Amino acid sequence: MIQKYPCHDCQSEDVIVFEEYERLTRVTSDCKPWPAGGSLQLCRSCGLLQSGVNPFWIDEITRIYAEYDCHYQSGGVDQAVYDPKSGQPIKRSDKLLGTLVERKLLPPSRRLVDVGCGSGAFLAACGQHLPGWELVGLEQAAKYEEKIRSLPGVVDFQPVSLDKLTGEYALMTMIHVLEHIPAPAKNLATLSRQLVEDGVFFIQVPSYEENPFELVVADHSAHFSGRQLLRVIRAAGSHATHEELGWLPKELSLVAAKCGTPEREKPSEAEIEETAAFVRQRLQWLEMVSTEARTLMAKKPFAVFGTSIAANWLLGVIGADAVDFFVDEDPGRKGLKHCGKPIIRPDQIPDGATVFVPLAPAVAASVHARLSNSRFSLVVPGL
Ligand SMILES: [Zn+2]
Repeated sequence: MIQKYPCHDCQSEDVIVFEEYERLTRVTSDCKPWPAGGSLQLCRSCGLLQSGVNPFWIDEITRIYAEYDCHYQSGGVDQAVYDPKSGQPIKRSDKLLGTLVERKLLPPSRRLVDVGCGSGAFLAACGQHLPGWELVGLEQAAKYEEKIRSLPGVVDFQPVSLDKLTGEYALMTMIHVLEHIPAPAKNLATLSRQLVEDGVFFIQVPSYEENPFELVVADHSAHFSGRQLLRVIRAAGSHATHEELGWLPKELSLVAAKCGTPEREKPSEAEIEETAAFVRQRLQWLEMVSTEARTLMAKKPFAVFGTSIAANWLLGVIGADAVDFFVDEDPGRKGLKHCGKPIIRPDQIPDGATVFVPLAPAVAASVHARLSNSRFSLVVPGL
């Protein structure tokens, strides 16, 4: 029997369980295939789409984080993002920090903590883009302490859980972190105690509305839409300082200031039903992608487009042996191997190959528009 778990953010037991989710193969946020058996539920009281936080899930994330490789993190700042028109790679950190400066969203004082700083990729970018700032890293694992402390501008590193953070900050950055933390509103409220009066959060999370593959990331405790992210921010006693959240494709980005009064807002019944229907449709789509790939993999040579989250999820579905090579536009991955198979550029795809594109629908469509060619078959799963 499928079990329900209380919402990890508002504790309500009134949740919708997506039973079909348990059958889906998953992937970790550091891009390793992960077996099926997870749970997905939607809280009717606060609207949070979430993993059932239970001893099984805690055991899973403990195992995932014990061997975590920050360089493959889905939202890692060292990963390239692509201009949807030209297909040219843009450095994610340049885009994010450039937008913060351009839109004058930075607070007046200059001390920031990067919460969940991983191996320090975003702090390194801050050192470059925000001269004169004092930078602090917070990360429970001390694995990268030495490297982080040596980065330009870094004045402190705290290897503690976020409730133990000390010091006062004008800016708290959380890049692909909030979706990993159970009870996001409560934890944001805890962090905001260390934020100075005119300080702000800068938060970025993946959007499951734009990227269905986000739903099968095993170590994500929450899955956000823009509407739900704003609701969590308000429940934590903050408010977004600008309206547009789509700074980067597939991501939600926002700056939030403290307003002091936490407001828990119950979504309407209609919104919950609409969200549940949307999620069910996306879960069906993921099943359809699995079936399509299993059928196509017999057409040799068979390749997978990309080497990150979605590609590795697909490897869990079809097995690495089914793949002859990978295609990746990231110049940093050119000439490398993935799971023992070569990574090649689109212009090196051999004649007659079948290249499956397991990417978020909008990204896959742009890849198809740019690279589709009579020499090979570029297959974009339909939505
Ligand atoms: Zn809830």
